[in-house]
Amino acid sequence: MAAIEAAGSSTRHQVVVIGSGFGGLFGTKALRQVDVDVTMIAKTTHHLFQPLLYQVATGILSQGEIAPPTREILSGQHNARVLLGEVTGIDLEARTVTSQVLGRETFTSYDSLIVAAGAGQSYFGNDQFAEFAPGMKNIDDALELRGRIFGAFELAEIGATRGENVDHLLTFMVVGAGPTGVEMAGQIAELAHRTLKKDFRAINSREARVILVDAAPQVLPPFGQKLGAKAKEELEKLGVEVILGAMVTDVDERGIEMKFKDGRVERVDSVTKIWAAGVAANPLGRTLSEQTGAPLDRAGRIAVNPDLTLPGHPEVFVVGDMIALDNLPGVAQVAIQGAKYAAKEIDHRLKSKPSQGPFHYFDKGSMAIISRFRAVALIGKLRFTGVIAWLMWLALHLIYITGFKNRITALLHWAVSFIGRGSSERTTTEQQIFARSALGRLKRGAADLVSDPGAYDAARALLETTRRAELEAQAAEEARLTDSRERGVNAEQRV
Ligand SMILES: Cc1cc2nc3c(=O)[nH]c(=O)nc-3n(C[C@H](O)[C@H](O)[C@H](O)COP(=O)(O)OP(=O)(O)OC[C@H]3O[C@@H](n4cnc5c(N)ncnc54)[C@H](O)[C@@H]3O)c2cc1C
Repeated sequence: MAAIEAAGSSTRHQVVVIGSGFGGLFGTKALRQVDVDVTMIAKTTHHLFQPLLYQVATGILSQGEIAPPTREILSGQHNARVLLGEVTGIDLEARTVTSQVLGRETFTSYDSLIVAAGAGQSYFGNDQFAEFAPGMKNIDDALELRGRIFGAFELAEIGATRGENVDHLLTFMVVGAGPTGVEMAGQIAELAHRTLKKDFRAINSREARVILVDAAPQVLPPFGQKLGAKAKEELEKLGVEVILGAMVTDVDERGIEMKFKDGRVERVDSVTKIWAAGVAANPLGRTLSEQTGAPLDRAGRIAVNPDLTLPGHPEVFVVGDMIALDNLPGVAQVAIQGAKYAAKEIDHRLKSKPSQGPFHYFDKGSMAIISRFRAVALIGKLRFTGVIAWLMWLALHLIYITGFKNRITALLHWAVSFIGRGSSERTTTEQQIFARSALGRLKRGAADLVSDPGAYDAARALLETTRRAELEAQAAEEARLTDSRERGVNAEQRV
């Protein structure tokens, strides 16, 4: 199959940006006024606001509100174009990026490259857990979890109606007590205890168990001991059971096995498990490491120079969750600020201005929401809890949700959920839950479901050749009939 070269005819400096997340989008936008052509290549057509994924999983927000189309966001930026594709190769010598969609391969050349491909879930070497305990990194994850969570209540209702024990269906386990795990556990508890409390007849949704488990000795380690203890207290008030110092050693269809520091092993039966524990940087980091010698850390993050470039390749910037630099955390602001820095550096070079010097991250603070009206926030040395922290969380997330339309609808959905007890986005389908495992069984994934690139053209060419031969034969026969006057005789005979 022939690959297509995606380069345009422009002689301007070509910037390729990999990823449409925080780093990719903010980097592209920061190049708006710069005399370059930007090609953003990403494997999804949307920009995902990951911090609110848990609200899609628990039916508060719709996926569209947190994942607007990148093409629409950038429609007014005339020096930028968007190319759908999963980047499968980066050739630093040739300065090309290879991307693919359903077997269609594209090469894109660059003068400068910004790699912002983010991170995925890590199961710490136990990838087999993923089938039973999905992580929460993308829209597919969130919709699958939505289906599993609401589906568990439905199955419990059926089981209870038949007189069966449904404890395993009404036990929800969240692995990982970082911000995502805390937010998820808090929200499932709200669903069980508030949102769904009047909706079932055979089960009492308030009896559902929500368990948050982590090997660490405290909840929210990066927030410090005091805020961690406060978050744990708030979760327990909501009815979440918090188990700390317990390592998850096995996960299967029906439950989880945990090992405690004293060697004790405990199993909890739970059909719905959510993995919010580990992070692994995008595998593109390995490709870059192999070509530059820049080392990778245990999470697969690549060591970059202080100006976010790769050793020996000042034209390649890596930003966001993929980098290992000065212990920077994997948060949105690191990606946003890094990408803006890279864009400015490209601009300076084109204008022969001096470099900005090393990249400095400005820590604007961290927040985690526990439930409605309850959150924790750490800003510098200041700690906030309760309603104040929750209001700060609300304001900040509203500012960062992309697009005015999405802000308004998110605000309405929050009013429904936080002031009322509703959850407007509870639609789930069988495909959301099972389609991914079905796709996973295909050798080449979705590519197995579509014709190979060029297969249609080849089939049409074959058809045309056969048809042409038929027409030629027909024409020859017509000529023979006319020459031998057989046609006329036949025609006369018919009359
Ligand atoms: C559930 C969750 C909650 C979070 N909550 C918070 C929070 O409250 N506050 C906070 O600051 N941070 C939070 N984070 C972290 C924050 O979202 C990340 O730090 C941030 O998204 C990193 O930005 P990035 O650009 O490096 O990667 P991402 O935003 O993940 O973007 C990566 C992009 O690369 C694309 N991509 C990946 N591989 C390829 C490929 N091979 N080819 C083409 N495209 C590719 C992806 O589709 C995506 O568009 C949260 C993360 C998660 C998962």
